[in-house]
Amino acid sequence: MAKKEQKKGHCIFCGSAPLSKEHIWADWLREYIPRTYAKTNHNVNIVSGSAFESTKGKVNRPGDPHSQRLRVVCQQCNNGWMSEIQNRVKPNLSKLIIGESADLEPADRELLATWAVMFTYIWEQAEPKLITSTPEERRAFMETRLPPSGWTVWMAPYEGTLWKGRSWRRAGSTFVDSPEPTLHQSTTFAAGKIAFHTFSSPRLRIDSKLFAQDHSLYEVWPSAGNVLYLASKRRDADLAELPNMFQRAQRYFGFTLLDDRPLHALNSITGFPAS
Ligand SMILES: [Zn+2]
Repeated sequence: MAKKEQKKGHCIFCGSAPLSKEHIWADWLREYIPRTYAKTNHNVNIVSGSAFESTKGKVNRPGDPHSQRLRVVCQQCNNGWMSEIQNRVKPNLSKLIIGESADLEPADRELLATWAVMFTYIWEQAEPKLITSTPEERRAFMETRLPPSGWTVWMAPYEGTLWKGRSWRRAGSTFVDSPEPTLHQSTTFAAGKIAFHTFSSPRLRIDSKLFAQDHSLYEVWPSAGNVLYLASKRRDADLAELPNMFQRAQRYFGFTLLDDRPLHALNSITGFPAS
């Protein structure tokens, strides 16, 4: 979907080669999230106008979702700054994963958001047709290690079973005020007892407070305000509602979709274990 994509075989962050295999779910999570599924289902649904196409994605393969890897980053990034983010986020994130509360200072929230954005960047590479970020944006992320502008990250304690290892990414484009379609994506996933929802778009602006309030979420980024933790515990069905944010464009983005110009290509992608 993005116009300019990284050259094949080159790191999605720094652009160099060769590539190493990177876990979609960080490997240290194995201490906290058992890998119990024999297979990962990766379904890719592409909706364009009235056409609908459903295929199996590249992560449709044996093994638990948490053990899946993609060859998209170089070893230097993997073992360098990315590993640093993992090490720094671990103390707080590991508490949240097992359902303990954590005292989150602004710097901790920033780090959790950065981690969730990094997860989203890796995950979006699983389906090239649904990539919305640009190489420039990802390079800036590598340099600043902060969510780029246009990104929002929410979090909520989660009690359920369906989203163990499941993530749902929805990417698409819509016409707002320009002949060029505007890209957007959202990614929903849970890590143990904490759920994340990320949204990004270079042009769509979301009313993040309203979205948080409607869904009992805790805004992690860009809010640096004094937000009360914890939001109420979210269940399986609650998380399933989050990817529908684009269907309520008037409420969250402040515009009405025109009948003849609906969400131009509302694409979705799921990865979850076999039942
Ligand atoms: Zn790299």
